[in-house]
Amino acid sequence: MKRRHDRVLVAGAGPVGAITALILARAGIPVTVLEREAGVVIDYRASTFHPPTLDLLEACGATQALVSMGLIAPVMQYRDRRAGKIAEFDLSLLRHDTGHPYRLQCEQFKLVGWAYDRLREIPGVDLRFGHEVTGIAAGDDGARVTVRSTRGEEHLDADYVIGTDGGRSTVRRALGIEFEGFTYPEHFLVAGTRFDFKTAMRDICSVNYTADPVEWYLLLEIPDMWRFVTPVDPGTEPDEAMQEASIQASLQNLLPRAEPYEILVKAIYRVSQRVAATYRKGPVFLAGDAAHINNPLGGMGLNGGLHDAVSLTGRLIAVWHGRTDEALLDGYEAQRKPEAVNAINAMTARNKKLLEERDPETRQRNLEEWRRIAGGRDLAYQHLLQTSMIASLRRSGLLAEGFTRPR
Ligand SMILES: Cc1cc2nc3c(=O)[nH]c(=O)nc-3n(C[C@H](O)[C@H](O)[C@H](O)COP(=O)(O)OP(=O)(O)OC[C@H]3O[C@@H](n4cnc5c(N)ncnc54)[C@H](O)[C@@H]3O)c2cc1C
Repeated sequence: MKRRHDRVLVAGAGPVGAITALILARAGIPVTVLEREAGVVIDYRASTFHPPTLDLLEACGATQALVSMGLIAPVMQYRDRRAGKIAEFDLSLLRHDTGHPYRLQCEQFKLVGWAYDRLREIPGVDLRFGHEVTGIAAGDDGARVTVRSTRGEEHLDADYVIGTDGGRSTVRRALGIEFEGFTYPEHFLVAGTRFDFKTAMRDICSVNYTADPVEWYLLLEIPDMWRFVTPVDPGTEPDEAMQEASIQASLQNLLPRAEPYEILVKAIYRVSQRVAATYRKGPVFLAGDAAHINNPLGGMGLNGGLHDAVSLTGRLIAVWHGRTDEALLDGYEAQRKPEAVNAINAMTARNKKLLEERDPETRQRNLEEWRRIAGGRDLAYQHLLQTSMIASLRRSGLLAEGFTRPR
C-alpha cells in the first residue's frame, strides 16, 4: 500500500482502543492514540472476560495480565429469586475448545491501565491524554482528525483512523453513520460490596444470574468485592436509585442481614441495543462500543469489542506490511457486524427477557428449560459454546481452529 502519513490514529483509549493500539504498535506500526480523559477512567462496567477472548489476547500479553489481576470463575449459575439454584454450568466442559475454560473476572479499567503502561514502553507510540477528537474528514489517501486539548485545536493526519470512542462516538457521528436500535427505558444499577455472599449463600458460585419478575439481579465475585447489577424502575430517578438507602434496600432484599452492607462502589448506566449501519467509511473504521452496544447480561459487549480489535488489527497489519492488498480490509465489517447483530445483541436481549419474565407460566417453562439444558451433558456443552462466544467466533472464522472437541 502507498502510505502518505505513515501512521494509524486510534480515537478513544478505553479497553478496545488501548488493546487495538497495543496490537498495532507491537507489530511495528506507528500509532497515535487520542484519549479525552486525563488517564485511566475508573468505571464499573465490564468485569467478565470469556474463554476465547483470553485465547485471542494471549499474543499481546493481555491474557497473562488479566489472569494475574483477576479471579478465575470456572462455574456459572442461573437462579430464581424464590426457587434458588436452577442450573449450574461448569466451563471445564470447554477444555478441548479453549486454553482458558473459565470466565475471568477483572475490572476493565485494570486492563486499560496495564495496556497504557505497555504502550508507553513502545517506541513510535504517541499516547496523548486530554485530547478530545471533535471532528474527522475522510479522504482517498487517509483521514484528517480535529482534536481539542489545552493547547487549543489542531489537525492530525493518518493513513487509517480507528474510532474506539465508545457508545456516543464522535467519530461515528461526524461520519453520519446511523446507530440503529433502541434504548431500554430502565437504568441499570451497579453496586460493589466487600461482603462475601458465599459465606451466607452457600450454594452460589462466582457468577450468578438470578431471575425475578420485579428485580432480577446479577451477582458477580471479582477480586476484592462482590458486584451486584439490577434494573431501576423507569419511574425512579437515577439520583434516587443511587441513594445509599435505596441500594441498601436492594441488597437487603437480596440477602437480609442485621447490619448494613458496606457499599464500596456504585454507578448507574443507561443501556441500549444498537449497531452501527456500517463499520467503515474509507480509511476510517469503528470498533467496540462505537460500533455496537448491548445490555450487560451475558458479559459480551467488551468481549465483542476486543474481538473487533483482533479482527481489524490482523487485517491492518497484513496490509500495512504489504503481505496482502487492501481488499482484506473489506472483510472486517463482513466478519464482525453479523456477530454483533445475530449473536451479541440477540443473546443479550434474550438473556434480559429470560431474567425479567413476568408471566408465571412462561417463567416456569424458562426455569424448566434451564434445568433441562444443564442436565444433559451435550446440551450443556452446546449452551456453553454459545454463551462463551466460541460458537460466534468459529462461525465468523476469527477463532483459530487450535482446539477441537474429541469425538
Ligand atoms: C453495567 C455494565 C456492565 C458491563 N459488563 C460487561 C462485561 O462483564 N463484559 C463485557 O464484555 N462487557 C460489559 N459491558 C460493556 C463494556 O463495558 C463496554 O462494551 C466497553 O467498555 C466498551 O469498550 P470501548 O473501549 O469500546 O468503549 P469505552 O469503554 O466507552 O471507551 C471509550 C473511550 O474513548 C474515550 N473517548 C470518548 N469520546 C472521545 C473523544 N471524542 N475523543 C477522545 N476520546 C474519547 C473515552 O474517554 C473512553 O476512554 C458492561 C456494560 C455495563 C454498562
